[in-house]
Amino acid sequence: GMRCAKTLQLTLAVIKPDAVAHPLILEALHQKIVENFIIIRKKDLAWRRVDSERFYAEHAGRFFYQRLVEFMSSGPMRAYIIAREDAITHWRGMMGPTKVFRARYASSDSLRGQYGLTDTRNTTHGSDSIESARREIAFFFPEFLADEWMKREEPGF
Ligand code: ADP
Ligand code: MG
Repeated sequence: GMRCAKTLQLTLAVIKPDAVAHPLILEALHQKIVENFIIIRKKDLAWRRVDSERFYAEHAGRFFYQRLVEFMSSGPMRAYIIAREDAITHWRGMMGPTKVFRARYASSDSLRGQYGLTDTRNTTHGSDSIESARREIAFFFPEFLADEWMKREEPGF
């Protein structure tokens, strides 16, 4: 509206099992989120294999799919709904490239560049579009403003 120059956009951020397993890395990632975003919701959870398969259905059949599904259901995760202007792009930028080689050498100060272990165990997830933010927030936080917010054209305030 007129009173607010900036639009807060919502996105989903996930700290994956490889990073949650290391308390110092978990804390470093959490601090980065705190410094850069307003935290709307935060949840610790773990997936069954079937959750992992559903969430990553778009990658079914890719050579890394089984590895990915196994990994994402291998231990606890932490999920956030976070907000800021251009939250989707900002968080993707902070994470850095998907693949560890590119993250380390072309984007070494990114979160994946600093903490990523392999192409699969790459510390973090972030929604890549408004559509996926909407779908993924609902996947992780089905109780979150389920009626009102899901009808909006953009996941923002
Ligand atoms: P992003 O998480 O950057 O959006 P993708 O959607 O392409 O990346 O892939 C989803 C996840 O699958 C990645 O974060 C990573 O954990 C895993 N992955 C992607 N590509 C590969 C690959 N070439 N080899 C192994 N794992 C991969
Ligand atoms: Mg993706």
